[in-house]
Parts: sequence; structure tokens; C-alpha cells
Amino acid sequence: MKVVKFGGSNLKKSEDISKLVKVIKSYNKPLIIVVSALYGMTDTIISTIENVHRDFNSIDQLQQTLLTAHKAILSCYLIESNEIQKAFFELEKRVEEMKRFLLGIHYIGEAPDFVRDTVLSYGERLSAFTLYEILNQLGIDCKEATPEDMGLLTDGEFGNASVDFDKCSSQVASFFSDDLVYIVPGFYGISETGKVNLFGRGGSDYSAAAIARCVKAQSLDLWKDVKGFLSADPKIVPNAWNIKRMSYLEAAELSYFGAEIIHPRAFEPLKPDNIPLNLFNIDGDLDDIKPLTVISSTGVKTSFIVKSCSYTDDIGILKLKGPGVGVKPGILADVTNAMKLEGINIKSVLTSQTIISFLLSSNDLYKAYQLLQNLDVHGVNEVEIQDKISLIAIVGEGLNDTHGIAAKLFNAISRKGINAKVVSMGISDVASYFIVDSDQRNEAIKSIHEEFFYEKHR
Ligand code: ASP
Ligand code: MG
Repeated sequence: MKVVKFGGSNLKKSEDISKLVKVIKSYNKPLIIVVSALYGMTDTIISTIENVHRDFNSIDQLQQTLLTAHKAILSCYLIESNEIQKAFFELEKRVEEMKRFLLGIHYIGEAPDFVRDTVLSYGERLSAFTLYEILNQLGIDCKEATPEDMGLLTDGEFGNASVDFDKCSSQVASFFSDDLVYIVPGFYGISETGKVNLFGRGGSDYSAAAIARCVKAQSLDLWKDVKGFLSADPKIVPNAWNIKRMSYLEAAELSYFGAEIIHPRAFEPLKPDNIPLNLFNIDGDLDDIKPLTVISSTGVKTSFIVKSCSYTDDIGILKLKGPGVGVKPGILADVTNAMKLEGINIKSVLTSQTIISFLLSSNDLYKAYQLLQNLDVHGVNEVEIQDKISLIAIVGEGLNDTHGIAAKLFNAISRKGINAKVVSMGISDVASYFIVDSDQRNEAIKSIHEEFFYEKHR
């Protein structure tokens, strides 16, 4: 059995569904299809949740947006008018269910975690239903299969849950026992007490990987609108090329460091059984389907060692200064505990005798700054932040045990007069990163690409 996932970028226009149908028909049954919400819908739902306590009309607006988008697709593919009516009726029923939660937020004036996660799951619930109706109408033997139905249990964390495989793998596997096409709404699982828990933004990839692990799938096929993993962002390096094979580790590091192709945690579930992840492009040749990147546990060293260079601007540095912060016990514990309570995720920590630097997501930077200004940490005299910076990572098997990589990297940037503010090497086996001012980011990436792949360009 294979698990196939279609993302929001595959669900932009009504016409996109014909491509999906063509792809789905190319697979054998039984098949599990996981879908994201229609393109942009999760963002729209988030902004409604943020406004609904003061703006009652936003409930109505969201209802209309969701109904219009899904009905437009259904009307393109359902032919019989009674089928259309039945589908519209069911769609309206589900949107009405979602509305109850939004009314709750409006009246109580805030969105408790479980309500927020539930409302956001409707993007996927509606897209899965829509695809189900269409496939059914086309005579494909299919069934909607929600995380509730299959018992996809989580660790109970709202907003960023993980699947509890010990508790649910076997029940999920036995759920998919018929020779059918199953259509699963991605993005969420269910806590032991029956609450909806999201897997984080882009979490449908993780849903699909988790189900692939439970059923020990032959492969996980992710359909996207990009040309696989590339050696760099083609907007910066136009002649960047496709990477055909990668290890989970390499792909996870690239995803963590900004390549927004796959959810960074989607690789974890695949590792134990070495389930290959195939990345396909929905805009490619659908008569001759081939994966653009195949990701598995097998790491291959290339002659360049470095395979790809990625970046993220979603990064900031928070510095705690004070004489001896590097040798006083307990400072990190105090600070990280306080950050945990505020839901601030620490991406990396670097310490010296007089400074502790935290790398944080830009969204968390000011929150953390304020928190620490008010939290009188013993030994810390000054809190400072740096923003408008970018993190650039190079990734490749063999990075750590090949001499000369660091020299090449710093040659490439110093040749352009670019200064690396923070550097981390040797922590990950397959990735190194450094930080530069954002306005030097593109120049640095171009120069690195040239330096490492010079021969390939000749
Ligand atoms: N719809 C969700 C999001 O936009 C999950 C996903 O697309 O994978 O984050
Ligand atoms: Mg997505």
C-alpha cells in the first residue's frame, strides 16, 4: 500500500482537480490519499480566529469563502443535480459545525487551544470531503477516512502534536483493510480524550508520513508544485539543479533551515522502516510519472560533498550579556524555563564566557526580549537583540569528515566582503550554518554555489 499526499499548492484552482484525478488513477488500490486544505484556506481561517472576538461578521465571511470555494470545485466535477445538491447539503452541514466553535470564540472573547485546533481542522475536513465526492462520482471506489475514524492518536499537544505510534499504529493499520482509495484530511490527529490536535503548519506532510509508518507503506509520495529539492533557491541561483537522491537527515536539515518544501518532522516516522519518500511535481509530465527527489535512509556522498544551500530569514539573535554568564550555573535553566512557559522555541544556543546567544524565530524574538527584560536573571546585565539577519545552511553527507569544507565556505563569502556573525559547524553530521546580514544573503548564496559547484558549471 502507498500513501499519497496532495498539498494546498495542488488545490488552487478547480482545474487542478483533473490533474489529481489523473495521478490518482495511475496508482493501484488500496491507496491512502492525504490532503491539505485548499490553497490559502488555513491562513484565512487563522485570520478569522484572530478577529472573530471583535468582528462578528467575520464568521459569516469565512462561511461564505469556504462554501464558495468548495462549491465551485464540486460544480465543475459533479454532473447530476441531485448529487450536487446532496454534496452541497453535506458541505453546509460541516461549515455549520465549524461555525459553532467560532461563535464560542466570539462570545467568550478568546480562542482556547482545543477550539482553535478544531476550527483549523475544517480546512482539511472540507477539502477531503470535496475530493471524496468527486472521486466517488467518477466511479472510483473510495471512502473518507478521518483521523477520528482510524484512531490516529497524538501526544495531546495542541498546535504542534506528534503521533503516539505505540498507542495507535496497529489500530490505524487494521483500519485500512479494504481494497479502496481512502481519503484522509491531513493536519490533525486526536488526543486520547478525543480532542483535535494539529501537527503544526504544513502538518499534512507529517500526517501522511505518520500513516505511512502505521501501515508500513511501500512509499510515501508527496505531490508538490516545486521541482524537487534543488541545490539552491532558483530565484537566487537560476542554474540550480535538482537533487535526485537524499538521506532523511539531509532533507530534514534542509527543511529545518528554510527549504519550505516538506514539513521538517515528516522524516521521523519514515526512518524506522526505511520507507522512501518520493517527491513529485504536479506540473510535470503526468503521462510519464517520475519522482524528482527520492529520500531514504541511504546517504550518498557526492563528489562535491555539499548538496544544497538553503536559507531562512525567519531568524533573530537574542544575546544575554554579563561577566561570567558562561560559567555561572543555572542561567540557561532559568531562561529556557521562562521561554518554555511562553511557548518560545529555541532554535539554537551558543555560549561564551560573557555572552549567551539564542537563535529564535523572528516571531519569538521580541516576545523573548520583553520577557527577559522583565525577568531579572542573576548575572545578566544586558539583553540585546539582532534582527534583519539570515541563516544560511549548507547540507550534505560527509560534511563533517571532509577537510577543507569550512575553508571553501569562508573563502566564498569573504571574497564578497561578507562577514559571518555566528557560525555553527560540527553539531549536525550533515549540516553547517552561519548568519549574515539579510541584505548580503543572496550574494553569499550565489558565491557559495559557485565555489562548491564550480566544476559543474564549467
Ligand atoms: N493546511 C495546513 C497549513 O497550511 C496544513 C498543510 O497544508 O499541510 O499549514
Ligand atoms: Mg501545505
